[in-house]
Amino acid sequence: MGKASKDKRDVYYRKAKALGYRARSAFKLEQLDEQCDLLSKATNIVDLCAAPGSWSQYIARRMRDLGRAKESRIIAIDLQEMAPIEGVKMLQADITKKSTLEEILRYFGNTPADIVVSDGAPDVTGLHDIDEYVQAQLVLAALNVASQMLRPGGSFVAKVFRQKDTDLLYSQLKMYFPDVAVVKPRSSRNSSIEAFVVCRNYSPVPGFVPVIISSDPSKNAEGEALSDMNRIAVPFISAGDLSGLDSDMSYSLDADIGDLSYVPLPPVVAPIQPPYAEALRRKREADGQKQE
Ligand code: SAM
Repeated sequence: MGKASKDKRDVYYRKAKALGYRARSAFKLEQLDEQCDLLSKATNIVDLCAAPGSWSQYIARRMRDLGRAKESRIIAIDLQEMAPIEGVKMLQADITKKSTLEEILRYFGNTPADIVVSDGAPDVTGLHDIDEYVQAQLVLAALNVASQMLRPGGSFVAKVFRQKDTDLLYSQLKMYFPDVAVVKPRSSRNSSIEAFVVCRNYSPVPGFVPVIISSDPSKNAEGEALSDMNRIAVPFISAGDLSGLDSDMSYSLDADIGDLSYVPLPPVVAPIQPPYAEALRRKREADGQKQE
């Protein structure tokens, strides 16, 4: 945390320092937890985009308070290095990479997670469209991890920037979680478009089998592709002979294209009341007067 005077006036900043939290963000998770009861029954927890680690600190403290520190398994992942936190496994990695997901799965063995949380934010460029796009990609990467890790009934929490396409994201989340809410914690500044999607009761569509697919197709093993229920997309079908006439091309009038060689033809149906009819009538009238 920096020492700018604006930060010092921020009550959550001061409270975080007083309670030994590395960032004021801890209170966002605390308020989400209080509002939505996220952690009281959780043991296995994945904290994505976790640096400097205040969410993991909160989670570790909560597990201790619940008397579950020993059996709980918490993993924190971020691009940036994080100082250790007791009871939390740190992993410096990119959540959009297939190798990261494989490492998280290895750490959990065969045990699924109860909850996956993500406070991911890209380095803000100030170009809103780009920032919102990258943020949305991070949410999808986090959802990908959640779909591999969660037990049925598990929960997923992710930071979103509310913008014009956010409704589409909510619909996508609803395909996995019947219970989706957008929550704005008190500690999140009103001036910020940030909010958190809280998704509960993980229930993937019947037939969905988690497979690890990289966002970079060249990193996928041969034959590894989304199929059946895993690829809930409208099929793209190409109709017509691909060697036939190309609608994007301009053909020369002399080009040899079989029956369609150019011969000027009158319109198949003459326009009924074309806007130029009045102009034509006047011209004919004027031409007639000239001849007289
Ligand atoms: N929840 C954290 C806490 O309480 O300390 C704060 C998270 S901070 C707002 C956002 C984090 O997202 C940054 O530390 C950034 O490095 C991380 N991040 C952004 N893109 C990432 C990616 N592709 N993989 C992993 N972490 C990423």
